Amino acid sequence: MNLIIFGAPGSGKGTQSERLIARYGLHHISTGDVLRSHIARGTENGKIADTYISKGQLLPDELMVGILADELDANAEKVAKGVIFDGFPRTIPQAHALKDLLEKRGMKIDAVVGLEVPEDELIERLVKRGIDSGRSDDNPETIKKRIDVYHEQTHPLRDFYVGEGSYKGVHGTGSIDDIADRIVKALES
Ligand code: AMP
Repeated sequence: MNLIIFGAPGSGKGTQSERLIARYGLHHISTGDVLRSHIARGTENGKIADTYISKGQLLPDELMVGILADELDANAEKVAKGVIFDGFPRTIPQAHALKDLLEKRGMKIDAVVGLEVPEDELIERLVKRGIDSGRSDDNPETIKKRIDVYHEQTHPLRDFYVGEGSYKGVHGTGSIDDIADRIVKALES
């Protein structure tokens, strides 16, 4: 099974990915984590990524798709057993690129789990996470920018995947356990 976990910044994609990995044994690809690892290792791509992440902007599609393709190749064996994509795709061109990358590997997306959370709760969660995690892009100014970017560039993907018949919207508020139960019900219904 190959899944995309979809939603705005702060919607709980990382937390719910952990639950899905534990339940279905999926390989987790979080593009945010991949980029932060590049930054920590001081790679060329990391240096470029840092300039976008610190401003709350998306990396250019071509660069991001190249980094994702490298990640798929570097983990080919685990990827073949099933993947959860977290934070990718974030634009329509990325969704098309993902389809191509998977097709070449004899794979496809089986479901897109969309975590739906009201905006005031997203902001509250991200500000709190910024205090707890120290993530440099969880500050009020960058949070606002990231949510704007989500509405402009990423939210249109919801309709894209509704059109493909793979979108499963889930209420993303309440306890972590309740949300996880809703996701499993949506996937197994
Ligand atoms: P995240 O940890 O998923 O919130 O991602 C943190 C930041 O990494 C985002 O605000 C973007 O700057 C960058 N990023 C992560 N995934 C992507 C993507 N699919 N396309 C472009 N930029 C991305």
